[in-house]
This record gives sequence, C-alpha cells and structure tokens, in this order.
Amino acid sequence: TPILEIRNLHARIEDREILKGVNLIIPAGEVHAIMGRNGSGKSTLSYVLAGKDDYEVTEGEILLNGESILEMEPNERAAAGVFLAFQYPIEIPGVATMTFLKAAMNAQRKARGEAELLTPEFMRLVKEAGTQLQVDTAMLKRPLNVGFSGGEKKRAEIMQMALLKPALCVLDETDSGLDIDALQVVSKGVNALRSDSRSMLVITHYQRLLNHIVPDVVHVFSDGRIVESGDKDLALQLEAKGYADFDGAAA
Ligand code: ADP
Ligand code: MG
Ligand code: MG
Repeated sequence: TPILEIRNLHARIEDREILKGVNLIIPAGEVHAIMGRNGSGKSTLSYVLAGKDDYEVTEGEILLNGESILEMEPNERAAAGVFLAFQYPIEIPGVATMTFLKAAMNAQRKARGEAELLTPEFMRLVKEAGTQLQVDTAMLKRPLNVGFSGGEKKRAEIMQMALLKPALCVLDETDSGLDIDALQVVSKGVNALRSDSRSMLVITHYQRLLNHIVPDVVHVFSDGRIVESGDKDLALQLEAKGYADFDGAAA
C-alpha cells in the first residue's frame, strides 16, 4: 500500500473549482516534487491534504496508508501522520518555540489517545532531533518565528517535522522566500528525514530547490491537475523551457 494515494480529486473554494482531477501515488520512502505555474492550484492541494476549512472536496478520494482521510479534521489528520509545513510561518509572540513544539507533540498524542509527554522526555527528544538535524536548540527558547531569519524559521519547522515523525510530509515552498541558509536547512532536513516508512511531497515553483533535494518523481501541475510525470530531469527541462509545453495538456 502506498503512503499516499490521491484519486480523481476535485476541490473548490467559494464555488470555484481549483482542483480538477488530481491523481497521485507516493509509495513509502519516495520523495515526489510538484512544480507548476503560480495559480495552478499547488497550495490548494496542500491545504486540501491538511484538511483546511474553506475547501470543499466535490469528488475523488485521498487515502493515507490505504485509509480515507476525507472525513477527518485537521488535527486527526496530523495524528494519522500528515504534516504540512507552512508557506507563511505564523509568529507567536510570548510563546517559546520549545513550548510550541511540546504543545504540537502533545496535541498529536492526545488525538492518538496517548499520555501527555513529560518535560524530561520531551527535552531528550528535542536534543536527539537537534543532533540529527544539526540545529542549535538554544534558538528554541525564543518566541516562535518572532524576529527569526529565514533559516531560523526553517529550523523550527524542520524540528517540528522531526519531532512529529509524520508518515507524509508536505512542504509547500515559495522559494522566493528561501535565502541560501534557509534552502540548506530545508534540503538537509528533508534529506535527513527521508526514511523507508515516510513519503514526502515537495511543492515548488522553482527548480533550484530540487538540486538539493533530489526527488524520485517530478510532476507538472497545470490548471488543477497533474499533466506530466517524470524523473528529476523533468525539473531541468521545466527550468530550461518553462511550462508552456504543458499548458492545456490533458492528464
Ligand atoms: P499555486 O499555489 O499553484 O500558486 P493556489 O492553490 O494558491 O495556486 O491558487 C490556485 C487558484 O485558486 C488561484 O487562481 C487562486 O487565485 C485561487 N484561490 C486561492 N485561494 C483562494 C480563495 N481563498 N478564494 C478564491 N480563490 C482562491
Ligand atoms: Mg501562489
Ligand atoms: Mg502556492
């Protein structure tokens, strides 16, 4: 069973159809990239996967490890193993990043019916993740994202990803907001968290990120669906020739 299977997914927002029949299978252990023009519906796909309000699925299916997640609330999806990294990180003044991370882990545990994580155990897990990802955990004492550099925001996000141990990681990257430091943090983090029991979906507008995160499969997104799939060379082809070849292409 693949970790993620999307079948003929249609979704709309405010009566406007944005996703128009997405089909996608990501087997365990694979990293897939989705590339596409601005406005093609890439972020909508990530929000629909996470179960964000406002989006109505009108047709199709989303299966996580073979089970439909369509009826699940966002927190239930997170508990089931879906993680969405945020395109625009929220600032939480007055709340240490550490506290936020602990709350995120405990929310996941609560939804799974597991006991609350005690501080010593949490600190041990944070230290472990910090070592694995080469993140200096001192920054986690500062309020989440407040005054963080691009790279620090990504460190907090990647730490959260490591601690929640999701089966499916969805990264929706603007790239335009990624400076060299942030790009390195994201790509090193993703590469460190690759595992046989995990799938990743990296959504990006630019090819540059994929020089660092080498995807198993690249998909081209156009007008609300996947219109072409290939290996990593497809990303290079897109970088050189643009999306024009794929406009109006049928899936
Ligand atoms: P991408 O991430 O590929 O740039 P989006 O998923 O953000 O594309 O947007 C796809 C389309 O959905 C765009 O035409 C956008 O204007 C529209 N859209 C996004 N959010 C909303 C919204 N809240 N209300 C109405 N239309 C929206
Ligand atoms: Mg956009
Ligand atoms: Mg987007």
